[in-house]
Amino acid sequence: MSKKELDWGNLGFAYHVTDKRYVANYKDGKWDEGALTADPMITMSEDAGVLQYSQSVFEGLKAYTTADGHVVTFRPDLNAARMYDSAMYLEMPPFPQDRFIDAVVETVRANLDWVPPYGSGATLYIRPYMFGISPVIGVKPADEYMFRIFCTPVGPYFKGGAKPISVRISDYDRAAPRGTGHIKAGLNYAMSLHAIVDAHNHGFAENIYLDPATRTKIEETGGANILFVDHDGNLVVPKSASILPSITRRSLVDVARTYLGLKVEEREVTLKEVKEGAFIECGLCGTAAVISPVGKIDDHGEVIAFPSGMEEMGPVLKKLYETLTGIQMGRIEAPKGWIQVIA
Ligand SMILES: *Cc1c(COP(=O)(O)O)cnc(C)c1O
Repeated sequence: MSKKELDWGNLGFAYHVTDKRYVANYKDGKWDEGALTADPMITMSEDAGVLQYSQSVFEGLKAYTTADGHVVTFRPDLNAARMYDSAMYLEMPPFPQDRFIDAVVETVRANLDWVPPYGSGATLYIRPYMFGISPVIGVKPADEYMFRIFCTPVGPYFKGGAKPISVRISDYDRAAPRGTGHIKAGLNYAMSLHAIVDAHNHGFAENIYLDPATRTKIEETGGANILFVDHDGNLVVPKSASILPSITRRSLVDVARTYLGLKVEEREVTLKEVKEGAFIECGLCGTAAVISPVGKIDDHGEVIAFPSGMEEMGPVLKKLYETLTGIQMGRIEAPKGWIQVIA
């Protein structure tokens, strides 16, 4: 085997079919042993639970080539645990967490030629997912499920470095207070598509969703948590039961405290205090881009411009970004258990 001949430095964020993917099936009350397959296609009933009632959850993580030439992944145990929680909430049989990690490792090992080289800025994106596959017509959970993992090489989320983006306060809601906001369900994305297309049509990169009950507190965007830095240089992270527990955010909070000695506040953040200028930096965080700096938030024509401006990431978020990506790429020593070596 040898590395695929791709233009590693110029990959976009798109799906490439790679050599192997992992499949396990749940039937008669148990998961089978699972296996790798070369077949990227899925055949299912026209009445599969996922097609009728959207019974589907997913995860996203990455494999990296480190500075010393290993291939590693970052905290897959947290993806395993989160997918377990997501499945339980949608009445799906959870895939065992230890098997999830083994399947991630096995899938990446079977596609090592697709892992972008160190220094290219590209990574191997790994997508575990599961869905109801047996026929369902009355509203109830499916009896049978498929769990799969594929991977695909992706370029840096932002080509040419992370330029600050302009986002808006959305008129739409993302997640009801006691709904599905805290799990990684495909349905949360389906209902965000209209809002994101509308935001793009109006020149904004993303929507910031408020808490639907009072519409006074900051929650998150469609696919990323939000970070703020206050005037004292503290990291401030919005807290709400309907925010998806981002692994990037939780890791950045630890990095801020233990590597950078920052104070971190995890608390409710009101739109009012954002408008009153409580914060000097703002960013979005998630696996895809790690941190995307936010330069401006537009609330129906009222613009909140952060002092960090529209040219560069602010200094505190930049330090956080460099430390976390340094840990992921093996340039900085990781906390115990954060790096899973694959090859
Ligand atoms: C996946 C996701 C995130 C980011 O989570 P990471 O684990 O950091 O990738 C944030 N918000 C939503 C709604 C998500 O689905």
